[in-house]
Amino acid sequence: MRRMLDRLAAKEQRRRFSDDDLLDRARELSTRYLDGRAVPRSVRWVENQQHRWGSCTPDHATIRLSTRLRGMPGWVVDYVIMHELVHLLVPSHGPRFWALVERYPKAERARGFLEGFSMAANGSPEEC
Ligand SMILES: [Zn+2]
Repeated sequence: MRRMLDRLAAKEQRRRFSDDDLLDRARELSTRYLDGRAVPRSVRWVENQQHRWGSCTPDHATIRLSTRLRGMPGWVVDYVIMHELVHLLVPSHGPRFWALVERYPKAERARGFLEGFSMAANGSPEEC
């Protein structure tokens, strides 16, 4: 039993992404959906982000993701990366912003997933 739990823990660990993995994913998403126009310099996990899933600093092309996303499905993590990538190009949540975000095929599904999760956890939705 113990060994099985250890094996499961190891498997769970492998499924989690390192900061380097995040940067690779971000570059791939930019290439695939944004014609490579968003060029992130770093993407990393941060602990101190309780009210937002992700944030970015367009001037430095850096993206931060809440560690609360760890363990969520890859397509949800990709959505938050995609959202922040688009912010590197369009700062505000206007029509041009959402048109770019919607290029990610699971954008709407991922937003629903995160909204449901936030409502269950905090009783309120959160955005970045
Ligand atoms: Zn946003």
